[in-house]
Amino acid sequence: MNDIILLKQGEIVLKGLNRRIFEQKLLGNVRRRLSRIGKFRVYSAQSTVYVEAEEDGADMDAAFEALKKVFGLVKLTRAAACEKDKDTILAKAVEYLGKDLAAAKSFKVETRRSDKSFPLTSIQLSQYVGGELSDRFPQTPVDVRDPDFVVHIEIRDLAAYVHAAPVHGAGGMPVGCNGTAVSLLSGGIDSPVSSYMIAKRGVHLIPVHFFSFPYTSQQAKEKVVELGRLLAEPCGRMTLEVVPFTHIQEEIRDKCPEEYFTLIMRRFMMRLAQRIALDRGASAIVTGENLGQVASQTMEAMAATQAVLDLPVLQPLVGMDKEEIVSLARKIGTFETSILPYEDCCTVFTPRHPKTRPRLAEVEAAESALDVEALVEEALAGIERIGLDCE
Ligand code: ATP
Ligand code: MG
Repeated sequence: MNDIILLKQGEIVLKGLNRRIFEQKLLGNVRRRLSRIGKFRVYSAQSTVYVEAEEDGADMDAAFEALKKVFGLVKLTRAAACEKDKDTILAKAVEYLGKDLAAAKSFKVETRRSDKSFPLTSIQLSQYVGGELSDRFPQTPVDVRDPDFVVHIEIRDLAAYVHAAPVHGAGGMPVGCNGTAVSLLSGGIDSPVSSYMIAKRGVHLIPVHFFSFPYTSQQAKEKVVELGRLLAEPCGRMTLEVVPFTHIQEEIRDKCPEEYFTLIMRRFMMRLAQRIALDRGASAIVTGENLGQVASQTMEAMAATQAVLDLPVLQPLVGMDKEEIVSLARKIGTFETSILPYEDCCTVFTPRHPKTRPRLAEVEAAESALDVEALVEEALAGIERIGLDCE
């Protein structure tokens, strides 16, 4: 018995009868993620997911790193498994954690015993192993109050496990257990973060990008594809839908009053997103909107934009400061790509004096020169679909 990864499930253990479904999703997501790295056995027992290598040379380091990003896991630990016998456990602790013990300023042993048939209590086992270890590592004193290093022992049904402190997982809920949403993905800083936040709540995403070639370049599209690939690591496999947006924007420019350009454009985005959502079984639309950040993000502008929708719009960034969004973007690894200097369709034909407090009737009147249905159908017919998966 040897090196293993223990994964502690997060909120899903609170979900009562749905727990099995959540857990199955989580196991599926973990298996799918690991299948790109090597052959691993993944199973669950007692609210813990176990990952074992199934072939020699399976890269446990890579597996551990990848699993840190899987939603639905609160803690991860590399552990050594052994027989449930006090001296075998002690020997395993020396072999597996000896280096850490030798380097630590102080230590203690902490035991959790879920197999109550084990002959020693948790305290007895901690005392036994702690005493023996302090004989073997005399330079590292025991400190039960504030130890520098903790030797964890778990006595479970299948085996005993020895490990150091667990690290934090990505948290959230397993992707796929809370339905599907269309997420509007620009090349900016905000929308990768809003996508991440909603996926973290267990939602499978369909990223949608509106592309205005040649006003926005091929590189701008490549940037969005790259952001999608970065997001695929935590969010799972996705299909990016690239919607041709040029004709719609030209029609707006040619036929509508300038101050309404952005609002009308955003209403088209919403209509198209909703059509894609209904067609692909998604139940909400996610955007990176943030109150007051740009002219189209006043409450009145958002109301005029969302008036074309029946589906709810999820805006997880709506009350955040830019700095908070930027620090999240850095943390999830999308920031550096987001700041590459390619234009977005929102910056094409921007009005000099956009309406910030539009009335719906005015927007509808401004839009009335367009054949909305025909433009929507034309854009939908031209969608390009790009599969996204992590490396
Ligand atoms: P971001 O940083 O995400 O681009 P932003 O602060 O620039 O956001 P806007 O340009 O007003 O704000 O866009 C608001 C939201 O609309 C974006 O967060 C995104 O969800 C969506 N959006 C904007 N442009 C596009 C696009 N070309 N394709 C898909 N969605 C878009
Ligand atoms: Mg933008």
